[in-house]
Amino acid sequence: MPRTFDITVVGAGVMGSATAWRLAKAGHRVQLLDQHAPGHGLGSSHGDSRIIRLAYDTPDYVALARAAFDLWRDLEAASGKTLMVQTGGLDFGRPDAEVLAEIEATYRAGRIPV
Ligand SMILES: Cc1cc2nc3c(=O)[nH]c(=O)nc-3n(C[C@H](O)[C@H](O)[C@H](O)COP(=O)(O)OP(=O)(O)OC[C@H]3O[C@@H](n4cnc5c(N)ncnc54)[C@H](O)[C@@H]3O)c2cc1C
Repeated sequence: MPRTFDITVVGAGVMGSATAWRLAKAGHRVQLLDQHAPGHGLGSSHGDSRIIRLAYDTPDYVALARAAFDLWRDLEAASGKTLMVQTGGLDFGRPDAEVLAEIEATYRAGRIPV
């Protein structure tokens, strides 16, 4: 454990933890601080599961989600644990719902099976 650090990240929820992980991977000496113990239930990142998906109506979000999928797989490899279970997704609504058409268009533009 180094005694000095290049960067301090405050908040060890999923965002701070991911930030600290990538900074450490990039070679920085990072300390990650939280006011509570790891895995506490007083923030937003508690519990067993979260949904991650590609179904957005904005291409930028799809690109970010794809990058996140890759990073979750990296984290699985580093931890030796299955962290992400990939399934199909279901979006539903009225046939004339504009957002459904936008999601479909984003899928097709990204060559995601739909
Ligand atoms: C019930 C629920 C279900 C959700 N479902 C989904 C989902 O399916 N898919 C999805 O993508 N998102 C989902 N979200 C949202 C997602 O969980 C949050 O966006 C994410 O966890 C936020 O992470 P965070 O690190 O920003 O915040 P947090 O997890 O809240 O982490 C912030 C950390 O900062 C610490 N902190 C704050 N102030 C200080 C301080 N002054 N000093 C030291 N430490 C401090 C806190 O203790 C905490 O640990 C859900 C959220 C909830 C609550």
